[in-house]
Amino acid sequence: MERWALGWYFSAMTFRPSPNLAHLESSATVAISTEAKRRQAAGEDVIDLGVGEPDFDTPGLASEAGIAAIRAGKTRYAPNVGTVELRKAIAAALSRMSAGRPIDPDRIVVSNGSKQSLFNACFALFGPGDKVLIPSPAWVSYPQIVYLARAEPVMVPGDPEWGLKVSVADLEKHRDANTKGLILCSPCNPTGSVYTLAELQAIARWAASHGIWLLSDEIYRRIHYGPGPAPSLFDLDDSVLDRSVVFYGASKAYAMTGWRIGASYAPADVTKAIAALQSHMTTGASQPSMWAATKAFGDPAIDPEVDRMVAAFRRRRDYLVARFHDQLPGVEFIEPHGAFYLFFRVDGLKPGTTGGAFCTEFMKQEGVALVPGGAFGDDRWVRLSFAVSDAELENGCDRLVRFIGQL
Ligand code: PMP
Ligand code: GLU
Repeated sequence: MERWALGWYFSAMTFRPSPNLAHLESSATVAISTEAKRRQAAGEDVIDLGVGEPDFDTPGLASEAGIAAIRAGKTRYAPNVGTVELRKAIAAALSRMSAGRPIDPDRIVVSNGSKQSLFNACFALFGPGDKVLIPSPAWVSYPQIVYLARAEPVMVPGDPEWGLKVSVADLEKHRDANTKGLILCSPCNPTGSVYTLAELQAIARWAASHGIWLLSDEIYRRIHYGPGPAPSLFDLDDSVLDRSVVFYGASKAYAMTGWRIGASYAPADVTKAIAALQSHMTTGASQPSMWAATKAFGDPAIDPEVDRMVAAFRRRRDYLVARFHDQLPGVEFIEPHGAFYLFFRVDGLKPGTTGGAFCTEFMKQEGVALVPGGAFGDDRWVRLSFAVSDAELENGCDRLVRFIGQL
């Protein structure tokens, strides 16, 4: 074909997304944080309280281990499920958090962030005709990942009187014969709520009695404002783990978001399916990142650094809660018991206000990024991340108090 004719041929082709993408929306949390970073880089006075990642640097020892791995030539493909050393280090870290319970490293698959671990598990377990319950509000990616598996997400509204958590009765109301899974997030993004061990146990029993897979996203487990790490499925009987997949990762507790290391812990047959799926998708995680994460999970010298970060999040949470109580007494919010988000309600502040409108106007008037609750399934609310420096948090709060005061 002549050149001009080829040009005509290509421009005549229109892109029609495949049915795989029928429900696809790009991640609002990722988009908001990208936009805030762009404005900051352009010199605008923007405070990013939308971002969902720790403001701390990766612990030095972990970074050095990544650099040493590169220097030592550990730059080739690693085993597709993750190196033995990393899987053992993750198993040991999970075991330490759950009173030394034995955790089998062979049931762990390491992926490019726990987002991929979640995708792997949903893709391996669910398909057309299956329904997956998701307590709402929920992290943006859960329903999208379920849709990508061609299954149907079913949102289960949480109870505002109860930190927007769901009970077995709430779940039961939304169950039918096609319900195949439940994705639980505790500590929860976006609410900061934490399920107690008794609540987890009741939900796990209910799921098992109906043959429902329980997917437990425990990525924020160490960022917990109660004693020790947040309650986990690893604190329950072995039988629970035979019908569950637990997700953990390096991003949040170890401030390693950019290294992209996450993990799933699943029964042997599910683990095998996840490994096969991943072998065709990404092969596996980056090898230098795996060595950095092996240090993070495995070296007790890093623990005090994690404790310092958690202490900083706790201090900021206390500060924020006190300012809401003192200066925004009419604003309803969920007191966070874990993670680093505060979820507050905006629909009563001015007639007709939505989370989306509130965030747009707040950015316009005061230059502060927040995430509208609509991204998480309920646009009466707004999410504020306190994973920012004390100074930024104080400045952001001043602007929030001023903004709400003039509504
Ligand atoms: N789960 C939740 C609840 C999250 O907030 C995040 C943060 N993006 C993830 C999973 C994924 O984290 P990562 O892929 O960095 O491990
Ligand atoms: N988990 C973070 C958030 O909710 C990071 C962005 C994302 O991956 O969604 O903001």
